[in-house]
Amino acid sequence: MKERAYNVYALSIKRPHLVLLGAGASLAAFPNGEKNGLKVPLMNNFVETVNGLSDYLGKCRIDYKGQNFEDLYNSLYEDSQYDEIRQVIEKIIYDYFAQMELPDEPTLYDHLILSLTARDAVATFNWDPFLWQAICRNCHRVGEDNLPHLLYLHGNTAVGVCTRHEKIQIGHKGGMCSKCKSRRSRSKLLYPIGKKDYNIDPFIKSSWNDVKSYLKRAYMFTIFGYSAPSSDVEAVDLLSEAWGNKYERSMEQIELIDKIDEKTICERWEKFIHSHHYGYHNDFYSSMISKCSRRSVDVSFGAIVDGIEWDEHPIPKDASWNELDEWLKPYIEVENKVRLYGND
Ligand SMILES: [Zn+2]
Repeated sequence: MKERAYNVYALSIKRPHLVLLGAGASLAAFPNGEKNGLKVPLMNNFVETVNGLSDYLGKCRIDYKGQNFEDLYNSLYEDSQYDEIRQVIEKIIYDYFAQMELPDEPTLYDHLILSLTARDAVATFNWDPFLWQAICRNCHRVGEDNLPHLLYLHGNTAVGVCTRHEKIQIGHKGGMCSKCKSRRSRSKLLYPIGKKDYNIDPFIKSSWNDVKSYLKRAYMFTIFGYSAPSSDVEAVDLLSEAWGNKYERSMEQIELIDKIDEKTICERWEKFIHSHHYGYHNDFYSSMISKCSRRSVDVSFGAIVDGIEWDEHPIPKDASWNELDEWLKPYIEVENKVRLYGND
């Protein structure tokens, strides 16, 4: 008999679901722009999309037309005569992303956060503040200690950090560190240069240590809208190292959510995928995250290892906040019970 996903094997598997986000995820969430109409840029339309950037480059007589922003930025980075210009560019970029806001109604980012639990983690390459804002506004729905862990692999414009402590303290940008009461500083952003140093900033370094540790333990790994661009060779190598030999991870499940066609995206992640143990989706709402919200790992493990059939119980895409709260209720009840008494 098929069972309701939230009940049977609720959180019986302790291994995490790790989700990796790239710019394609933010674009999928807001194809027409965020709350105030600001568009999510990709590297090939970056200069035209980020307000103020094309004007500034034009004023500096830098020819950007037809250039991918990664290549353009890298060439400025490698020539010290452009240092001042580069700093202005970085400020324009930071300010653009920092002012982005989630629309008032529930969004894909809210659905992503509400579909995972404290066991899981979301690592993002994106500078935009959507993930942080989604965590903040959904915290009370599921409980502060029942949220996925967030990791910022290229820094982030929403968060402030205090690096005075062994465990880096993260919170709202500009707020006070709860440990030492000093003001948190802005997270640095890692810009698209050819050879990135992930150890140069303590916050980014600790995010990478955490993502590697999650990858080692993960039962499911979803790559959402991250195209592994050429300037991220080191990133993909680091991830691949942490994932290890794909033949030794033959039970694990990989999900790819992307607009890019299946063959191309599978080739890009070939180092990770063991034979047919992957799912490919064009759309977040057909992925396991969304179809088996809050139980993706349990359901997947149950199906593959124990042959348990499962019922789809997708997060309601068009639900209002109140309807989402109603939908969450049975999950949270089971989770609270599991946390108090264990799985038996
Ligand atoms: Zn502190």
